[in-house]
Amino acid sequence: MSSNLKNPVPHYINGEFVMSLSGETFANISPYSNEELNQVSQGRKEDIDAAVLAAKTAFKKGEWGTLKLNERLKYIFKIADLIDRDIEQVAKLESLDTGLPISQTKKMVGRAADNFRFYAEMVKNRMTGEAYHVDDEFINYTMQKPVGVAGLITPWNAPFMLETWKVAPALATGNTVVLKPAEWSPLTAHKLGEIIHEAGLPQGVFNIVHGFGEEAGAALVAQPDVQLISFTGETKTGSEIMRNGADSLKRYSMELGGKSPIIVFEDCEFDRALDACVWGIFSFNGERCTANSRLFIQESISERFIAALKERVQNIIVGDPSHGDTEVGPLIHKDHYENVKRYLTIASQEGCEVYSGQIPKHLSNGNFVAPTLLLNVKNDMKVAQEEIFGPVLTVMTFQTEEEVIELANDVQYGLAGYVWTSDMKRGHRVAGAVEAGMLWVNSQNVRDLRIPFGGSKASGIGREGGHYAFEFYTEMKVVHVAVGDHHIQQFGKKNKTATTHTKA
Ligand code: NAD
Repeated sequence: MSSNLKNPVPHYINGEFVMSLSGETFANISPYSNEELNQVSQGRKEDIDAAVLAAKTAFKKGEWGTLKLNERLKYIFKIADLIDRDIEQVAKLESLDTGLPISQTKKMVGRAADNFRFYAEMVKNRMTGEAYHVDDEFINYTMQKPVGVAGLITPWNAPFMLETWKVAPALATGNTVVLKPAEWSPLTAHKLGEIIHEAGLPQGVFNIVHGFGEEAGAALVAQPDVQLISFTGETKTGSEIMRNGADSLKRYSMELGGKSPIIVFEDCEFDRALDACVWGIFSFNGERCTANSRLFIQESISERFIAALKERVQNIIVGDPSHGDTEVGPLIHKDHYENVKRYLTIASQEGCEVYSGQIPKHLSNGNFVAPTLLLNVKNDMKVAQEEIFGPVLTVMTFQTEEEVIELANDVQYGLAGYVWTSDMKRGHRVAGAVEAGMLWVNSQNVRDLRIPFGGSKASGIGREGGHYAFEFYTEMKVVHVAVGDHHIQQFGKKNKTATTHTKA
């Protein structure tokens, strides 16, 4: 066990690092060696209840609710500064825990600090109300108030980035938080707890409970004192959460799975489209919600494009995620590895050619899946319809724009889409026609924090990001103020006068 790993990883409840009330723990396993990294506190309902009580008390009775905005935001900026200070350590922990290559976790951790600064600035500048002057009789104005206790449930595929993406707007808008990180990636969530503790937030404002989804996650969802759940994870988990939370009528933000098309037309800038396609499926080990996992390549250039893809796949550096030049590391967990391998077997059974790159022999202990192309795929095959969430690209060809739009949309998901063409009229047209929440034309997945993030169809409900997060993390309140003597009905009053105004 590395010296900077806590063993066991504790929860963070009411400003203290504590073990589970049951004392139980579970093992956190290295994706690279499949050896135990450390033990983690296994939260259950009673731990969730304690964290929610702390968050509720901090919201209703603590100083957080009455702090001046600038004071609250000072904490948020401080968290960003501490993340920057510890960037190397967080990136290493993230890589160790998830198997993501260190060069990629470094970039993500940098963005995590940006999330806090961005939301602090945005709350200050953009969380504004509206005012309506109504016929000289009323002024109506709106204000956005924090909702209360925010339950945040996050996945393992980019844990630190996704946790901070939710924690930053939830805290900046004045809520208190209970975070339930993914059980396969607890380390950087714990580090976030240490950072927030050091930033000195009032006790109970931020809490973490580790544990399994079916126990700790489900208990958080069922907790009546939790007003909202922001969830990122699989589509089927999202449905289950909405079912389980129905009795306590929560609001939900659902960021779910994807099977996103990349459509490459014959007039594209070939080399740039190739770079983007390869990066878009093989970065983050292919465990990326917005991965361009379904390639549609126009027939006239398909032979050349597939030959170039094969060459890239052979040359991608698969290796130890802690090495700076590694491009693809091991998948997060043995179970997930088995699942991805199962799809490769299904692909063969469905009649696809499975074309894989190389895994160096010394890596046999890790959950390594070589970068893989599935060729001769038909859109109705399982491998073209289901999210594999690994370094696996399904390759299909098309002849016409009309045909490819139909194929691209013939899937349950609608998270992202990518279009490559030099004909910008066509670029806009196809981007408009693909059923997805986010489209990129002649670009890989590059995001500005100001824009909305989210998917359509089975890929999600609602939008986060930018000021769109405010709608989710705040309650909109309207105040109607009479500024004149408007008419009021006079029920039960004898000798009503004919006049509408009732000045005494
Ligand atoms: P998952 O659904 O298995 O787990 C996500 C989180 O939910 C974990 O913390 C887990 O413990 C918890 N959980 C599981 N069952 C639960 C339950 N019954 N009640 C409450 N919580 C429960 O997802 P995963 O395997 O960790 O992540 C991969 C998935 O996440 C992929 O489908 C990917 O596309 C998706 N994802 C989506 C986005 C997006 O923004 N749309 C971003 C990243 C990942």
